[in-house]
Amino acid sequence: MPTPVKKFTCLRCGACCRTFQSENSAKPGSFVSPITYLLNEQHLSLYDWEVKGFREELAKINAGRKVLPSVAFIDLKNKRLIAVNYTLDGENCPFLKDNMCIIYNKRPIACRQFPCVPSQADVLFNYRTFHYNINDLCGFERIDNTLRKRLEEIKDDEKAIKKVLEERYGEAYHYNVRAHRFNKVLSRFINELEQKGEVKLARRGDNLKDIPSKIKGFGIVNVSDLNKDLFFGE
Ligand code: SF4
Ligand code: SF4
Repeated sequence: MPTPVKKFTCLRCGACCRTFQSENSAKPGSFVSPITYLLNEQHLSLYDWEVKGFREELAKINAGRKVLPSVAFIDLKNKRLIAVNYTLDGENCPFLKDNMCIIYNKRPIACRQFPCVPSQADVLFNYRTFHYNINDLCGFERIDNTLRKRLEEIKDDEKAIKKVLEERYGEAYHYNVRAHRFNKVLSRFINELEQKGEVKLARRGDNLKDIPSKIKGFGIVNVSDLNKDLFFGE
């Protein structure tokens, strides 16, 4: 008999907001995928279009915190960085009060996805399949083993994995599906720009040891400013 998987219930322990994990293992100043470069360590990841609203919320509470570009394409042709992700600096969130999020209805997509976070390999390299890592930072995941057991039973059956994740995480799962779709569209868009010769991207493996000094003078644009039709989805 298959292991019944418990539905995710947030314990309101605040662990995910009090101590951010670094969202990827690459070090700032290196490539996180063949064409995306890490400018600042990612703690709380923000899509470029989320930054303005998030900064406004930080200003309201005088948080004294910064939002920095984190992941960008390096466009050698136009001498600019094309930012796809930003991050809150520091390793905790100033919006956590008494273990509650005070901007709950405006919280970033990264928070809406948690703890249903697809693996880094999926996000960065392979938009076709959906891999999943259980997030051990989450208080609920630490005490409930039913998903682990069920995933063991269904192994690589992608359809069954998606069904189980949807049952467990509900809305958080759907945010991940949309993020997954968005990444595909973004990837297609940047490839098309490159094919048309409108950008020339720096790539991991190119002889680019001088990148940190080279990009110092580069301007920065947001990818959503280059294409207003990039759409995260309802
Ligand atoms: S915005 Fe809210 S949910 Fe997100 S990390 Fe901060 S306190 Fe937690
Ligand atoms: S760590 Fe998990 S259980 Fe705790 S507040 Fe965050 S989502 Fe909820």
